[in-house]
Amino acid sequence: MRRAAAIALAALALGCFPARRGDDARPTAAAARLGVRVALGVVPRGQQPPRVDPSGDAAVSFAGRRYRGRFRIVATDAGSLVVNELPLEDYLLGVLPLELGERPAAERAALEAQAIAARSFAVTRLLASRAGRGRSADFDLLATVADQVYGGMDVERPNASAAVRATAGLVLRYGDRVIVAPYHSSCGGETAAASEAWSGGDEPYLQRVSDKIPGSERYYCDIAPRFAWERTLSGPDLNTVVQRYLRSYAAVPREGPGAVRAVRVVSRTASGRANVVEFRTARGTYDIRGNDARSVLRTTGGELLPSSYFSVEVEVSRDGELTRIVLRGNGYGHGVGLCQWGAIGRARAGQGARAILQTYFPGTTVGPIPSALLVQ
Ligand SMILES: [Zn+2]
Repeated sequence: MRRAAAIALAALALGCFPARRGDDARPTAAAARLGVRVALGVVPRGQQPPRVDPSGDAAVSFAGRRYRGRFRIVATDAGSLVVNELPLEDYLLGVLPLELGERPAAERAALEAQAIAARSFAVTRLLASRAGRGRSADFDLLATVADQVYGGMDVERPNASAAVRATAGLVLRYGDRVIVAPYHSSCGGETAAASEAWSGGDEPYLQRVSDKIPGSERYYCDIAPRFAWERTLSGPDLNTVVQRYLRSYAAVPREGPGAVRAVRVVSRTASGRANVVEFRTARGTYDIRGNDARSVLRTTGGELLPSSYFSVEVEVSRDGELTRIVLRGNGYGHGVGLCQWGAIGRARAGQGARAILQTYFPGTTVGPIPSALLVQ
């Protein structure tokens, strides 16, 4: 459900659509044949790489998992890079269940919206590869959160697969461009403009969108497990995580920032998320971005703060020492683009995949994969 923000912004919009227009366009045979190359992992030197089935007809296995398509083994300095080559549409079968899980038939529109979003992301990576700006000459996508988590055949689920098939060849576009279409687990009530979460400019289709259900006090994503959350950090635990993580986001002294005396949200973004969070410690005062504060205010086990949509309550002992902080917030993830639990809520309310996508990505349309990509 997460994707590196830097990648999302770096590749926000690539490629061109031809003059062809209309949401009713169906995938061509060429679109069905469009292939992707997914890097699964590296087999260290001295170990046996997986068997390559030259026919490409049978499922192939790597690290205990089965995959469609075929493998290509690329020799690298680190060992044998295993690349799964398969049709884009088959790849998506192994992506969708890991993003949204298997959902009941009544939530099919959410699966279809997610399928189009995941396909759009993959297509932007393919376009980057074709333009010589890809991750590598040997593959188009990584099978990890750095791109989209891909689990092969073993993760496929019937309703998710039906949603991929029903939307075959369709991507999300803004004007002539295919867009990356970022998504997150739950927005907590309102999505964030891209600039609220990441450095860089805003795109017109990545704006704040309310998830409030009209005529009610409820939200489409209030069914999410972490729509509302609370995290408490004791003074010692807070000192531990600030000591460990603050230096990645602020210039702290070599000996560390020292004991934390206060944490407060200094300013908020338009959607109400923490914009700047101030950490006052024994050795200084440090202001960091709200989204970065998620990486500082971790549990001691390393788990990120669920979102930047939070408030802080600081408890201090009689002698002025910080004893604990209580963080209360809403939503899970960066908040930009499609709210996955909101999409589920909207599907339950009868909205279709196009309506869901056009709500979370204002001004976009659903259309075919650019024909330029289909010419080999
Ligand atoms: Zn939401």
